[in-house]
Amino acid sequence: MTAHLSSPTSLISSQLSPTIATIHLSALAHNLAELRRVLAPSCEILAIVKADGYGHGSIAMAETLSQLGITKFGVASIQEGVTLREAGLTETIIVLGGIFSWQLGDLIHYSLTPVISDASIGRQLGEKLSPSQMPFPVHVKIDTGMRRLGFTPESVLDFLDSPLFRGPLLLESLMTHLADADNTNPDFTLKQLDEFQTIVTQLRSQGTLIPSLHAANTAGIVSYPQSHCDMVRPGLLLYGYQPTSSSTITLDLQPALTLSTKVVQTRDVPAGEGLSYNGLYRTTRASRIGILPIGYAHGYNRLLSNRGEALIGKTRVPIVGRICMDMTLIDITDVPHAQVGDDVVLLGRQGAEEISAIDIANWQESIPYEVLCSIGPRVNRVYEPMT
Ligand SMILES: *Cc1c(COP(=O)(O)O)cnc(C)c1O
Repeated sequence: MTAHLSSPTSLISSQLSPTIATIHLSALAHNLAELRRVLAPSCEILAIVKADGYGHGSIAMAETLSQLGITKFGVASIQEGVTLREAGLTETIIVLGGIFSWQLGDLIHYSLTPVISDASIGRQLGEKLSPSQMPFPVHVKIDTGMRRLGFTPESVLDFLDSPLFRGPLLLESLMTHLADADNTNPDFTLKQLDEFQTIVTQLRSQGTLIPSLHAANTAGIVSYPQSHCDMVRPGLLLYGYQPTSSSTITLDLQPALTLSTKVVQTRDVPAGEGLSYNGLYRTTRASRIGILPIGYAHGYNRLLSNRGEALIGKTRVPIVGRICMDMTLIDITDVPHAQVGDDVVLLGRQGAEEISAIDIANWQESIPYEVLCSIGPRVNRVYEPMT
């Protein structure tokens, strides 16, 4: 049998494994349209597709967003940028994370745009460029409160005033990152935005040309319209979620990913039996259990043991017992017609019921970001075309 496992839309691969992530490209398009509805017409969008597009597949996300008019993409590392270039993406790719000096050759070779947060890396990049590669576009990051990457306000003045920016490098954008924009208390965010604005004013008054400014992640976009600047950096929002329920801008977002599988076996268990490892769950009645071929090695978190829920026959049922590496048990006693081969939704809708990445995040004491980007390569991605 020849199985075309590499093709993301392959029906064969989804028949080989019923544990699939269906990506609704129409939802992605809808979320982008919602974002555009609330942005000033001149505000650009840098679409964040790091961490394999938050688990949705970075290549498919970038290709689809590019068809929808997006020309700038954000990734975390050189490696993620190279993956997109090798897939044929020709648009601007901005590397948001830190860069090692030994990666500068690849950065230049693959025409990736760095975010510079360190004067030494900036200098080494300048030295590696041949005259035909100059001026090389860069974004420069200022730390206004995240205390992770970024120049201090004092050091950025000197850096941007250096000869590096009169030949080798071209400042395309100045940026910062918000550390607390999902908090209902706005104080820290307002302080960050204020500090950002102060530095920009200072730089412009000393004659530095700054073509564009950006600061807003999803939380900034929905809660601080004044953070939109010339460009926004949505990640989570594009995939259908926002990190905070209180926001000043209301967007109608549609989750772009459904995680589903099928019952591989059922068994009847008397009352008083322990199920799965360590008998963590004990039946209190004669029970019917469904076995699912998904486990923590697929990215279905073990903290969901005895806590999570699944949808089968349009009914919400509990996860019972420890989640194993490859398998999970559900209690289907109350779904009498449930049988082997039935569809089970772990994240997404079935009938009137819905389990969102936020529900799962609450069960596993995490955030929707981690839930989505943990869905691993064992889960086949199936792309549902835009309608
Ligand atoms: C990941 C990331 C974003 C996107 O954040 P969301 O909350 O997913 O919108 C924006 N900016 C930077 C610098 C990031 O690393």
